[in-house]
Amino acid sequence: MRISVVGGGVIGLSCACRLTEAGHDVTVITATRPGETTSAVAGGVLFPPLTVNSDRVDRWTATSVEEYRSLDAPGVRMLRGTFLIPRDAPLPSWAFSMPDLDHEPGRLTFTTAVVDTPAYLTWLAERVAALGARTEYRVVSRLDDLDADLVVNAAGLGGGPLAGDGTVVPVGGQVVHLADPGLTEWIVDGASPVLSHVIPHGRHVVCGGTQEPGRTDVTPDPGVTADIVRRCRDLVPALAGAAVLGSKVGLRPFRPEVRLDRDGDVIHCYGHGGAGITLAWGVRGGRRRSRGRRLGRLGHRI
Ligand SMILES: Cc1cc2nc3c(=O)[nH]c(=O)nc-3n(C[C@H](O)[C@H](O)[C@H](O)COP(=O)(O)OP(=O)(O)OC[C@H]3O[C@@H](n4cnc5c(N)ncnc54)[C@H](O)[C@@H]3O)c2cc1C
Repeated sequence: MRISVVGGGVIGLSCACRLTEAGHDVTVITATRPGETTSAVAGGVLFPPLTVNSDRVDRWTATSVEEYRSLDAPGVRMLRGTFLIPRDAPLPSWAFSMPDLDHEPGRLTFTTAVVDTPAYLTWLAERVAALGARTEYRVVSRLDDLDADLVVNAAGLGGGPLAGDGTVVPVGGQVVHLADPGLTEWIVDGASPVLSHVIPHGRHVVCGGTQEPGRTDVTPDPGVTADIVRRCRDLVPALAGAAVLGSKVGLRPFRPEVRLDRDGDVIHCYGHGGAGITLAWGVRGGRRRSRGRRLGRLGHRI
């Protein structure tokens, strides 16, 4: 089957990977290179702190963590770390799938994947190409114009306009890269009014963050950079002397819930908000299925 996948971020590339593995003739159409996507800004820790809990988010998270665990890809490793939550908050349901979870009031500690997203996306794009998919760099104005048997709308923030869906909104996020002083754990502080995170990737640490609904520009704000550095050094004192390497801003594609459904010859898969790296291998369907069922699963599993 000739399939056009619109989107070259983590969602589009993950879908394209599985569809080419299943033997389809796949073309990825993307306005930007992998390193220029929102996906390449993400801190890359695998759990969904900013997403409404639901059975399917729990399932997708568990599937994805297992997939990343099995990948031999640059920038991907399993690391133990801590998620701080309000002391009276219930245990999030996705946490039950974390095999080595330790839980005490206000603190969850577990092992999950951490993904250095620029390195990983470069590898994933190369893998998709090696599997035989073509890539076209251009803007798609209308899904109907694409000459394909099936179209996958995995265009992130662009997925809403392409589908005539006005519920997708940008939520800006700024991160700061610091030199990694040799951190061996990640930490995400979800107990403070603004979520802060420190995700080590070996050479650099991704520190964040901000949640800015409606933001449309991606120019880092020096004042926000200074605030993130201060918050993250308070959280992890070992960062006190770490050099600031740079800042980035991404626009998370938020939607009341992730869209994954089939409408005629189009499969919509967008609106992953602050958890697209986490959900990517879950929403694209299961690896261990037969060819025919794999595509069906991508189209029909809601
Ligand atoms: C600061 C920050 C930190 C984050 N941290 C994490 C984290 O730790 N863990 C996690 O799981 N998630 C995290 N996220 C969220 C994650 O980055 C997103 O959910 C994810 O990147 C969404 O992936 P996507 O492929 O849908 O969108 P994108 O990465 O935005 O890709 C969209 C693609 O579609 C293309 N496109 C759009 N419109 C068109 C069009 N009309 N024609 C052609 N191409 C088009 C774009 O060019 C691009 O290639 C973070 C996000 C931010 C901003």
